[in-house]
Amino acid sequence: MSLNKPFSVAIVGGGPAGLMAAEVLFQGGVKVDLFDAMPSVGRKFLMAGKGGMNITHSEPLHAFAGRYGSREKNIAPLLESFTPEALRAWIHALGIETFVGSSGRVFPREMKAAPLLRAWLHRLREAGVSFHMRHRWLGWDEHNALRFATPDAENAEKLVQADAVILALGGGSWAQLGSDGLWIPLLEQRGVSVAPLKPANCGFDTHWSEHFSTRFAGEPLKTVVLSYTDIAGIEHRKQGEIMITAGGIEGGLIYALSAGLRDKIAENGHVQIYLDLLPGKDEQLVINETAHPRGSRSMSSHLQSRLGIKGVKAGLLRELVGVEVYADPKRLGAAIKRLPLTLIAPRPLNEAISSAGGVAFETLDEQLMIRKLPGVFCAGEMLDWEAPTGGYLLTACFASGKAAGLGALNWLKSR
Ligand SMILES: Cc1cc2nc3c(=O)[nH]c(=O)nc-3n(C[C@H](O)[C@H](O)[C@H](O)COP(=O)(O)OP(=O)(O)OC[C@H]3O[C@@H](n4cnc5c(N)ncnc54)[C@H](O)[C@@H]3O)c2cc1C
Repeated sequence: MSLNKPFSVAIVGGGPAGLMAAEVLFQGGVKVDLFDAMPSVGRKFLMAGKGGMNITHSEPLHAFAGRYGSREKNIAPLLESFTPEALRAWIHALGIETFVGSSGRVFPREMKAAPLLRAWLHRLREAGVSFHMRHRWLGWDEHNALRFATPDAENAEKLVQADAVILALGGGSWAQLGSDGLWIPLLEQRGVSVAPLKPANCGFDTHWSEHFSTRFAGEPLKTVVLSYTDIAGIEHRKQGEIMITAGGIEGGLIYALSAGLRDKIAENGHVQIYLDLLPGKDEQLVINETAHPRGSRSMSSHLQSRLGIKGVKAGLLRELVGVEVYADPKRLGAAIKRLPLTLIAPRPLNEAISSAGGVAFETLDEQLMIRKLPGVFCAGEMLDWEAPTGGYLLTACFASGKAAGLGALNWLKSR
């Protein structure tokens, strides 16, 4: 789509969502100015690349869309317009190869974000997108101009008029990378409904003893099954790996279940989870082994030789079962298969990988324009959706950035 009239669009926020909107807009023939509070764009994107950037997932689209839970109906249309396959093709066109890992997750060949971001920014600059760094958006003035705080002593507050605005301000985790959630009151003052930001893909606190914490913090608990019952009474069971932290647990398995665990804590004050330390063995077999005569051997060396329970698994068992259960082979066997652990709080928002909450979809039209603020569009993690890690976060940011960019073009065209 190309416009005859030279419209200008201001994008606030230079993460993946804002940059994708910029790409769509310059292709549409619009003058694009992108503002960001930080000295450079894409800081969280680069951080995501440090742990081996997982950019999307190869599973079929209907399964993919299901990862957005109750927001599937809002995110699915965005994904249909910019599918994970199309996202991969777009990355390849930037000269970055991708591959599908054994889990179905998609990664850039070099497992990093920097080469992709470099190539992308080069293309955007060549196309004429103007970048304005260290420009913190402060809201609107009485003439609907965007207000920015700048480091320029003579022009500390700059006013910008644009024909349309795209807000892509991110969520509220890792505030040091730029997305700090301080935009929430700016939109609420304009009557926009924003759900409070909550930690997503986060770790949880529990009460470890000093001894356990000192000895095992940083140790991975490999291949366990975690089960718990959510607020709707549905039991969840998932296999994976957990990382012991000084005050609790985190890691892939925990992140995958974190939304339900967080919500249960919000309702009950705590959540009871159960760990199966030996998912490959059935309970009766485990009990037979714990009850097997052990002579003068201690229970811990008996567990190690008969069941391979040692290290952090052995430590966790000692930590969580009482002396009486530990001395009773039958109850101990049952505990190995269903070890109760109470989680008392999610880790703070700033430590989470992403945030839930944000601008309510109900306040937006299907082009992601805020109904109450015609010409103002929203994209990325600042929208009220959440998803597990696995490439689902970035994919929805890219897809919503594209939808908001196209929405702005359509809106300008209609004027
Ligand atoms: C450690 C870590 C690892 C991750 N790994 C993955 C992964 O492997 N796969 C995956 O899919 N996702 C991952 N994510 C999540 C992913 O990085 C984010 O979901 C994504 O970056 C969000 O994109 P966004 O464009 O919506 O916002 P952001 O990338 O947060 O960008 C928002 C921008 O807005 C700017 N801004 C905010 N407020 C203002 C203001 N008032 N004025 C001006 N500018 C402002 C910020 O400076 C920032 O540049 C990870 C996140 C973290 C923290």
